[in-house]
Amino acid sequence: MIRSLVWFRKGLRLHDNPALLDAARDAARLYPLFIVDPWFVNPERVGVNRMRFLLESLGEIDGNLRRLGSRLIVLQGRPQEVLERVLSRWQIGRLCFERDTEPYARRRDEAIRSMAERVGVRVISPTAHTLYDPDELIELGRGKVPTTYGAFGRLAAKLGEPDAPVASPSHLPPPGELDADYGIPTLAELGYPDPECPSRGIIPPGGEGEGLRRLHVYLSDRQRSAGFAKPDTDPTAFDPPSTTALGAHLKFGCLSARTFYAEVQKVYREVGEHTEPPMSLIGQILWREFFYTVGYATPNYDRIEGNPVCRQIPWDDNPEYLAAWSEARTGFPWIDAAMTQLRTEGWLHHLSRHAVACFLTRGDLWVSWEKGQAVFERLLLDQDWSLNASNWMWLSASAFFNAYYRVYSPISFAKKYDPEGRYVRRYLPKLARVPAEFIYEPWRAPLLVQKQAGCVVGRDYPDPIVDHEQAKACNLERMRLAYEQNAKGG
Ligand code: FAD
Repeated sequence: MIRSLVWFRKGLRLHDNPALLDAARDAARLYPLFIVDPWFVNPERVGVNRMRFLLESLGEIDGNLRRLGSRLIVLQGRPQEVLERVLSRWQIGRLCFERDTEPYARRRDEAIRSMAERVGVRVISPTAHTLYDPDELIELGRGKVPTTYGAFGRLAAKLGEPDAPVASPSHLPPPGELDADYGIPTLAELGYPDPECPSRGIIPPGGEGEGLRRLHVYLSDRQRSAGFAKPDTDPTAFDPPSTTALGAHLKFGCLSARTFYAEVQKVYREVGEHTEPPMSLIGQILWREFFYTVGYATPNYDRIEGNPVCRQIPWDDNPEYLAAWSEARTGFPWIDAAMTQLRTEGWLHHLSRHAVACFLTRGDLWVSWEKGQAVFERLLLDQDWSLNASNWMWLSASAFFNAYYRVYSPISFAKKYDPEGRYVRRYLPKLARVPAEFIYEPWRAPLLVQKQAGCVVGRDYPDPIVDHEQAKACNLERMRLAYEQNAKGG
């Protein structure tokens, strides 16, 4: 009987976890391991909220494993070194981990696979983070990578329905005697300040239980789920949000994408009529799939240079604009409220992400999408390498989308959804008493009104960082020229 090691990285769940089942099959001993990799323990790359979400998710995995007679073992260090040590110390014959297609993970996993095979350990690495295997999709397209959602959808349709989720294990072989505690570290032990977090806002804790619970609560409103149409959801809704807010659970694999897919299909069968991709709920999970596929197949996907799908646009390097945007000091309440929500809660509705990304890049500040991507990387709970890069390229009209003349107004866009400015008042309490008429442009309020509201622009709240109409006109011209250059191949 073999000794197996299942290495958790993403895929932080017991449901629909083929790597766990592969590891447990006929094993005398099973070592479920998570390695705290110093690459990720970096507050510049992974902000405190996401690190906390990860630790909560590990806590739940540990609890769920213990209920099945097992436990999570947590070690710290470079994965290759840690694994080399424990494969021999625990006499492991089989190493299983879910496949991860991000560039860092691919380099890491290739090195680990070679090391394990060199020492005679069999490696099994099934695909379960996405609905489809990106290699299969690309092969089906004869090596041509789909660069539009439509082309991706046609390819995926040829592959048929994704595999159904696999069953959760009902019991697991125990690990052997361990020589130390190997428990989950705290935020402080990882060098993070424990965040002063008065409220968790709209974001639930990490963990598969919460991911599954939240999915079922959202889907229990059958009509809303079947009629889900992304552009009609309200970006200013926060109690509750208008979309599932399951991004972080999907990112860490606390919730399996195949489970999401299967559960939504169940609702469709029950309700009958439903919306279709790209707007529908199934359409959302297919956006994820599409961007995973292009990201997987495109070199230098998260940067401008050497990225074949990205238009070359001469963005400005403007650290002051970037800081004002990321620290919610642009003087545009809708943008600053959204950036405050991102900083404090780690989540933003898709259209709010659109608005702030457009504002930073082609709309108002003409700062490179790479800079915005890095801020999102640090602050988003659901930060996901390929989705972040794809959407930043989209919003900056650098790839996928070319209607660059469609610019989100930082004043009138949110007003449509929230004329009273509830969202702004919630995230920018300084503006709480500004009359609704001026909530999106407080600089227009007469000084007396500003004083009565306790919010004098220039003193209590910043002046607008740019004149939106002027900035937009200037940037449209720059964009037109950049497009011309790109068309000439320059
Ligand atoms: P729902 O609308 O409930 O959708 C369910 C799931 O479908 C999402 O959780 C996500 O996994 C997937 N999905 C939905 N929209 C998209 C999309 N446009 N692209 C890819 N997948 C999608 N999403 C991330 O998960 N991680 C990121 O790092 C990320 N960065 C973004 C950066 C920018 C500039 C923009 C404009 C969007 C970004 N998105 C990212 C996409 C999208 O905004 C979020 O997935 C979504 O808002 C998360 O909220 P939700 O879970 O309520 O989504």
